[in-house]
Amino acid sequence: MRNKTLLDFTLDELKDAMAAWGEPGYRAKQVWRGMYHDLTVSPEGLTTLPKGLRARLETLGTMSTLSVVSQAVSKSRDTRKFLFRLHDGNTIEVVLMFYEKRRSVCISTQVGCAMGCPFCATGMGGLVRNLTAGEIVAQVLFVARWLRDPEVDGPDASPVPRPTTLTHVVLMGMGEPLANYDNVWRAIRTLTSPEGFGMGARRITLSTVGLVPGIRRMAREPQQVNLAVSLHAPTDRLRNKLVPINRRYPLKKLMDAVREYIGTTHRRVTFEYALMRGINDSLEQADLLADLLSGVLAHVNLIPLNPVEGSPYQPTEQRKANAFLGRLRRHGISVTMRLRRGIGIDAGCGQLRRRTVGIG
Ligand code: SF4
Repeated sequence: MRNKTLLDFTLDELKDAMAAWGEPGYRAKQVWRGMYHDLTVSPEGLTTLPKGLRARLETLGTMSTLSVVSQAVSKSRDTRKFLFRLHDGNTIEVVLMFYEKRRSVCISTQVGCAMGCPFCATGMGGLVRNLTAGEIVAQVLFVARWLRDPEVDGPDASPVPRPTTLTHVVLMGMGEPLANYDNVWRAIRTLTSPEGFGMGARRITLSTVGLVPGIRRMAREPQQVNLAVSLHAPTDRLRNKLVPINRRYPLKKLMDAVREYIGTTHRRVTFEYALMRGINDSLEQADLLADLLSGVLAHVNLIPLNPVEGSPYQPTEQRKANAFLGRLRRHGISVTMRLRRGIGIDAGCGQLRRRTVGIG
């Protein structure tokens, strides 16, 4: 049984539910305003509503679904990781990253993940369940509240003065977003709706390991969020090993879907490539990657791997990573190296959860 939350409702669903009580449509808009603009955590805080109505709203569901189990802050204070408990006892991770001009949150879309990438802590534990749209939205709201209210949660350990605002959302935490398509898109619609959280679609990035039908479907969505593909290998042989879903959607099928996506949306696609020592980081592999992306409106994000304890997959040393980047540039590929974040605070996907509650 799911614990229904008010964050699971679309505005129209909420209007319908409240219309059954004889309430006019503007009441549902007031609730949305309270939840998504004022970041209110309980119906009691909806002071524009009559008291009786506030109490009645509680019967539809809660407005907050997450409780903090633990937090970790990196030494440089530019990364903060939250471990949340859900109503059923499951836990999920959320990472808040501070950049010069951005405050970006990386959120989870599933408890665990079925994709089984061998270098990933989440993949080791398998899939437990999909998150609901409300549980996905709740992660963003929690962090937006934390940034707005310095007193909410202990000492201010952020490198920028709070209060401040959240600028970007990345669906790249635990889980494969396109394997939970309907709930993820319901959440994106709430986050981008002007009556909802009101975030620009272009400030949201969805990262997938390459579920081809989901990429095709995403191309037809009116909300033009950014697409990132976790590639990690330039050949099917290696990718079958690193990203097992490649056996079902090999590189040819994946790249056809990406080309179709670009043709429909005219948007650049980012390819994430986690550099793993001695596995996918040779100059020959850089050449193969450049071949694969030739003629594609693409940007490559190189990421030194965040190693999982006891895993044979280790990050590429900096000198080699720089050479890989230089080689791609010589091929005319748009490429940047992402800074490794959160070493020492288990900021790699699934690591805090694994360590704190023994999953995986
Ligand atoms: S890397 Fe992403 S897709 Fe792969 S197992 Fe981990 S969470 Fe799932």
